Amino acid sequence: MPICGVLGWPVRHSRSPAMHEAGYAALGLDDWRYQLLPVPPELFDETVRGLPGAGFVGANVTIPHKEAALALADEATGSARAIGAANTLTFLPGGRIHADNTDAPGLIDALPFDPAGATAVVLGAGGSARAIVWALVQAGADVLVWNRTRERAERLCAEIGGRVVERPPVRADLLVNTTSVGLQWGEDPFKALPLDADALHGYPCLVDLVYGSRPTALTSAAHDAGATVVDGLEILVRQGARSFERWTGRPAPLDVLRAAARGEPAAA
Ligand code: NAP
Repeated sequence: MPICGVLGWPVRHSRSPAMHEAGYAALGLDDWRYQLLPVPPELFDETVRGLPGAGFVGANVTIPHKEAALALADEATGSARAIGAANTLTFLPGGRIHADNTDAPGLIDALPFDPAGATAVVLGAGGSARAIVWALVQAGADVLVWNRTRERAERLCAEIGGRVVERPPVRADLLVNTTSVGLQWGEDPFKALPLDADALHGYPCLVDLVYGSRPTALTSAAHDAGATVVDGLEILVRQGARSFERWTGRPAPLDVLRAAARGEPAAA
């Protein structure tokens, strides 16, 4: 029985098990399973090294283990190395561990347009921003990075690319929120971020990595401003689809993954 899972701490709210198991069912992969793997940082290496012997073929990796996942892998894609983090581990025959980062191609898959030549504003300079900035720079976008702590944005741009800005410009083709602002229900993003709701009229497309059980204030305001909105669940689906394809060797049934991530019944 091939088993996959998601390593995180905490991880109990992850939508990945529902998403992947729905995908297995839709493709008739009846013996495949996907498990939550709550693992504290001090047990991460030991646990991961034991997974292949327990039947695991792969594991997604989320907060706070993405850097540790890259560090313990025997081999890694160039993108995972450049980003400095891995969210997808594959256990190869012979015991080697392969690391990849599907957050970056997942963003590009989710965008409604080719970002080559576009101007993109990225808010935030944390772990997820590294994958987002790397993806956009590689895709040929001009990337402007704003972060509350400017030095962190400077470090990110020096390592990965993009330019630090003191304030987001009035207009750009794309705005990506990679900060955790909006995660707390009721938190006003227009107090924490250097934007007001009107500013969203200058951005025809918004991506918000934050997701929860309802639309974030940022996605609602962008929607009201007439922007195309890509929410955090779509980003989750796209990175998950890339991992799914790597492990199963089959195209991911995107609509099935999407419905499961959103807790909706799958279309007949
Ligand atoms: P992280 O490494 O902890 O970085 C957090 C970022 O948010 C930093 O840039 C931080 O700025 C900024 N920030 C936090 N509180 C702020 C505030 N009150 N005002 C302004 N900026 C603030 O986190 P991460 O791993 O990048 O994750 C960020 C968010 O993306 C989380 O909500 C996470 O759930 C979400 N995410 C979603 C997906 C998905 O698949 N949809 C994938 C990855 C992450 P400072 O540097 O100034 O502290």
